[in-house]
Amino acid sequence: MTDGARTPGLTDSAAASDGTGPRPLPVRADLADRAGYGAPQLEVAVRLNTNENPYPPPASLVADIAAAVSAVAAGLNRYPDREAWQLRESLARYLGHGLTAAHTWPANGSNEVIQQLLQVFGGPGRSALGFEPSYSMHPVIARTTATRWISAQRTADFRVDPVAAVRAVTSQRPDIVFLTSPNNPTGTALPLAVVEAVCAVAPGMVIVDEAYAEFTRDRSATALTLLPRFPRLVVVRTMSKAFALAGARVGYLAADPDVVRAMLLVRLPYHLSALTQAVARVALAHSGELLSTVTAICAERDLLVDRVREIGLTAADSETNFVLFGTFADRHAVWQALLDRGVLVREAGPPGWLRVTVGTPAENFTFRSALDEVLGTLARKVRR
Ligand SMILES: *Cc1c(COP(=O)(O)O)cnc(C)c1O
Repeated sequence: MTDGARTPGLTDSAAASDGTGPRPLPVRADLADRAGYGAPQLEVAVRLNTNENPYPPPASLVADIAAAVSAVAAGLNRYPDREAWQLRESLARYLGHGLTAAHTWPANGSNEVIQQLLQVFGGPGRSALGFEPSYSMHPVIARTTATRWISAQRTADFRVDPVAAVRAVTSQRPDIVFLTSPNNPTGTALPLAVVEAVCAVAPGMVIVDEAYAEFTRDRSATALTLLPRFPRLVVVRTMSKAFALAGARVGYLAADPDVVRAMLLVRLPYHLSALTQAVARVALAHSGELLSTVTAICAERDLLVDRVREIGLTAADSETNFVLFGTFADRHAVWQALLDRGVLVREAGPPGWLRVTVGTPAENFTFRSALDEVLGTLARKVRR
């Protein structure tokens, strides 16, 4: 991780009793030199660095969550429904496409869903292939599950070329293929034909990470439509972005019921708390209201892309709630200068690029003003 802090405490807390100084902890050799995930959580006025929805849950939802949590609290001496059936029914209803509860599986964020998938379908002696630049947690979760990571490349404009993708999959024969659409950190959505082409030749599982599905221009072009044809296809979604529920930790997958049954081999018993299940169900009952923020965010995103291009920078086409922009000779200097003006963005993507999450109109205005100022001040130093 480029923006992670060194993992603390690996060497400094285990002083040997014979006075020979600190001894390193016996951390797994393949993890010992790594840093943990570390997007900075700084107390800054305008935080546009982790692709959260800037709109807090509306008061009506907060009230319904409070009531649901209160009802569940009276039964917290018991373990939750291990299969989360009611939540899975709500998720299936939300997704549509003829899916049922048996096709869905929730966990504590889609990262946990992905971890469970790699525990079942990856592991020692197996491999996972992704098209980069893409979501940095995919190779991290591959590593922690001892799955070999194979990096394939996107095109210069961040697309996945179907011919190159088929060639990569047929020559490398990975046990798992990741396709992120729309992609983080570039914002690029993949045509369904690319997903189909990969599914047709993949020897193992294909995971389509659709964390930003609700922000796409054509919401009917989801890999959910391909599930009946490809029993080894898995679509992963999250409530952290469009649903404005990042703090509740709810992600889920949709796949053939056999894939869901395989999840039971690795999930920890009662992995999803009764509180989480209740909160997620209430949020899904409010989906109309919650998703109305998506329309506003998408409009702001398109304005932001136009604005960035107007001032002579490059912005990648985005079908998400963030914009990748640049390029800068010294992106860290720009990141720091924005932070000095109270705006936190992310150093993400290939060298020279920065990623900004779409905020409220007021936050986006502050970002644009700060960017103008920074470019004015640092002009020659930072522009490429
Ligand atoms: C944000 C994001 C996730 C979501 O992670 P959660 O664990 O559900 O919060 C998953 N995949 C991608 C590509 C993301 O950008």
